[in-house]
Amino acid sequence: MRIAATRDLGLLVVLRHQTCLSDGPPSVVAGSDETLRNGEQGQPRNQGVPGVWVDNRPIAPTTQACDGAFDWRDDRQPCRAVFFDRDGTLIVNYPYNGDERRVELIPGAATALNALRQAGYRLIVVTNQSGIAREIISVADLKRVHTQLSRQLWEQRAWIDAYYYCPHHVDGKDRSLALPCACRKPSPGMLMRAAAEWSIDLSRSWMIGDQPSDLEAGAACGCRVVRVGSPGDEATRGAGVGLLDAAQIIESYGAPSSPIAPAKRHVARPA
Ligand SMILES: [Zn+2]
Repeated sequence: MRIAATRDLGLLVVLRHQTCLSDGPPSVVAGSDETLRNGEQGQPRNQGVPGVWVDNRPIAPTTQACDGAFDWRDDRQPCRAVFFDRDGTLIVNYPYNGDERRVELIPGAATALNALRQAGYRLIVVTNQSGIAREIISVADLKRVHTQLSRQLWEQRAWIDAYYYCPHHVDGKDRSLALPCACRKPSPGMLMRAAAEWSIDLSRSWMIGDQPSDLEAGAACGCRVVRVGSPGDEATRGAGVGLLDAAQIIESYGAPSSPIAPAKRHVARPA
């Protein structure tokens, strides 16, 4: 029910890659009836539905992520994911940044993403972007920023599976977005929707962020959480670990030999 309730709240899938699910679902744009085929240039779709589109970033090779033991390769089994906050976690936080030229990766971001993908996690960004409701940035600005982020990651052969953002804020100028919503962190709406659309087992998934609201959102839907430090933010400096440390922590918890979180214990296989 919670998932259904979040359907119309403006959560937006910005882009999505074909993944290494050899027998898995096609690369369907969740929340719409459009399909982006591997290698196809994405175009704005569903013009009547504000903000729903497919980005046109380069498509990653489908074989790259298939090395290693992926227990979610079996599509009967929910996959696990690491959810990332964006600003202050993956990229330097410039508040309400809509300028692609100010996209600066946090050191170690691509390495951490690659390590986690090799460990079998989907990688999904969940980001509050109230600058849209406040009319400081546009959806097009946001798209360019995400495209630039993806481009920089791809230079190191890392990529994000999907971006979800919340454009809302109760104080927004855009009256259509000036509302309380279930997707703005610390609410877990973005994670819940991603879980539904990607068949993610939240109990085996993680949330990484630099703000308490990130951790609250993750914990609210049953994820484990890691707080990372934010080099550009005095308020959180030294409060967390680095992205590479976070990746190591997650890998150690997710290892099949771990007595804390055996990878398959929590998975309910269909009969
Ligand atoms: Zn929202």
